[in-house]
Amino acid sequence: MSTVTRIDTNFLRGEFCGVFVVNQNNSFSIVEVGSTLSVPPILSYLEKNKISKESVRNIFITHVHLDHSGGAGLLLKELPNATIYTQAAGVTHIVDPHAKLVPGAVEVYGKEVFDADYPGIIGCDANRVKAMNENDVVDGFKFFEAPGHAFHHGMFFLEELGYLFSGDALGFGFKEMNLCPLLCTSPTQFDSKAWLQTVQKMETLPIKVIQPTHFEPLTDVKGVLESCKRQLVVYENLIQTNDTQEDLKKHYIEAITEELNRYGSKSVEKAYEMIIGDINVAGLWYRVQKRLQKKK
Ligand SMILES: [Zn+2]
Repeated sequence: MSTVTRIDTNFLRGEFCGVFVVNQNNSFSIVEVGSTLSVPPILSYLEKNKISKESVRNIFITHVHLDHSGGAGLLLKELPNATIYTQAAGVTHIVDPHAKLVPGAVEVYGKEVFDADYPGIIGCDANRVKAMNENDVVDGFKFFEAPGHAFHHGMFFLEELGYLFSGDALGFGFKEMNLCPLLCTSPTQFDSKAWLQTVQKMETLPIKVIQPTHFEPLTDVKGVLESCKRQLVVYENLIQTNDTQEDLKKHYIEAITEELNRYGSKSVEKAYEMIIGDINVAGLWYRVQKRLQKKK
């Protein structure tokens, strides 16, 4: 029987960013790599648990945002037999992160934050990064395209355990929010229509556990999918009905307050901080601006 272990990479804070080690008869896969700063914790986990670097065969990455993929090049260098798998459109970014990915991230986070959180990013040998397409299976991990948070987002379903590695596609899982799966609508690719279809597709799978990258495993699968669908309708509505950033933020906070309340979570301010609410508002605001430009 395969086992899944979560490593807390302590990226940005504890219990925020996970990397997952899957043991299948002493052949190992790693799901997500985190930032470059996450690589030392991964390597020390392997060493402590006497897992040889040679026995890691696969690295699965849900999408190229740097808190999920930033350490790819560094980690791949350490693991001689590993191949990276990700969605087809993500491959070039993993191979050559400095072409578009890094400049884009500097723009979103600012140079200072970027240098502190994502230092020393390197590219990958193109022969060791492979694309996965819908329904492709590698060592029991079935791939599903999952656009919505980002168009190049994918999810990996470990069929044997009914374990879905959902990246950022099915919300966060923070204890402090009673596991209310608030969605990350960060810039610039938030697409509620595509995202709804992603969630609906998941309703047909025999999922036992949803494991978001951030952070706790979620077992109320039906509840999570319902919450995601509810939020997507609300966020799209916010985009269509708010013309100023101020209004948008106010109504966004009201919207997440309502969702948090459904989970019995009262600490909205704390939640807003934990999910980096400003980034989510910025993603929605980006879409508002697109709408306003069209009107002109
Ligand atoms: Zn993320």
